[in-house]
Amino acid sequence: MVKKNTVKQNTKNIEEQTMPEGRQASKVESLVIFKCNCNCLMCSTGLQIKRNIGSADYHAVRPFEDVKKDIDRVKEMKAAGFAFSGGEPNLRRDLPELAAYAKKIGLSHIEVQSNGRVYAYKEYCRKLIDSGVNNFVVSFHSHKPELADKIMGVPGTFKQAFQGIKNLNELGHKVKINIVMLELNYKQLEEHVKFLLKNFKIQEIRFTMVMLEGNAIDNTDIVAPMSKVAPYLCRAIDIVNNLTARRVQSFIYNMVPCLVPGHEIYINDLGPLGTLLIGPEFEAMLDESMKGKKIKAPVCQQCKYNSACHGVWRSYAELFGLTELKPVK
Ligand code: SF4
Repeated sequence: MVKKNTVKQNTKNIEEQTMPEGRQASKVESLVIFKCNCNCLMCSTGLQIKRNIGSADYHAVRPFEDVKKDIDRVKEMKAAGFAFSGGEPNLRRDLPELAAYAKKIGLSHIEVQSNGRVYAYKEYCRKLIDSGVNNFVVSFHSHKPELADKIMGVPGTFKQAFQGIKNLNELGHKVKINIVMLELNYKQLEEHVKFLLKNFKIQEIRFTMVMLEGNAIDNTDIVAPMSKVAPYLCRAIDIVNNLTARRVQSFIYNMVPCLVPGHEIYINDLGPLGTLLIGPEFEAMLDESMKGKKIKAPVCQQCKYNSACHGVWRSYAELFGLTELKPVK
């Protein structure tokens, strides 16, 4: 957590910095709800969601006026866009109204991060699109229905999310897919991306290493070592590039560059991140919030990525150590 004047200073710096190739542009991401209709094995906000079952106070559902103020911050920091995150943002009945406000003040990038279940209702998709949402990030962790439902914690999630993405495609929107890479799914990444490209119109794929937060703390057996995931990840990105002539973008989150040789440009979290994260009673630039939570090895001093690389999560290092990290000359 940081004080607001620190945030202002950091946002000023962001405006002055040029994003490296392969990076997402700066944005404001707001945790607008801590309720969900899934219960993912690795949900990073799973603890807050469980605490808020049956509650409707501002910790569970942030007040409409507060979220409007979050949206205003995009203009203030001249960021590229706004993302509704959670929990499951689509469980807010006022989401279309909030998106309409973002559109009204002229934001060009209005994103919703979702498990995709609600998009199975096409009329709802239409309403959201009409209100101004133009970036749909949908979690789709496996191409195998049973495994997807197991990871998301609710039977039928795969079927609904699949139909949901189809609906968005039919309404003219490509989707951005988020895949959290786990012990359960990483060996199937190549088949997974082929399935996605065959069935959906996709704008980008976000490959995310699981974070040891929330539900994952109780399920550490689902966390795979990065060095094991990395070769599968690199091959999956090569497939995406080959099958789409690089028209579908790939981004890697929570992975260090030394483990993905030749694919470093796809790592999103190198250097300053440019994302302001806001939730009930806190706001933080992601760069600031990472300080103290990420760690590097002594050998990182010899690595050419040392100044830009944030290292690995401390909780990950406690589980797997730091011997995977190999300095790049
Ligand atoms: S600085 Fe360390 S963790 Fe980062 S890429 Fe280099 S060796 Fe890997």
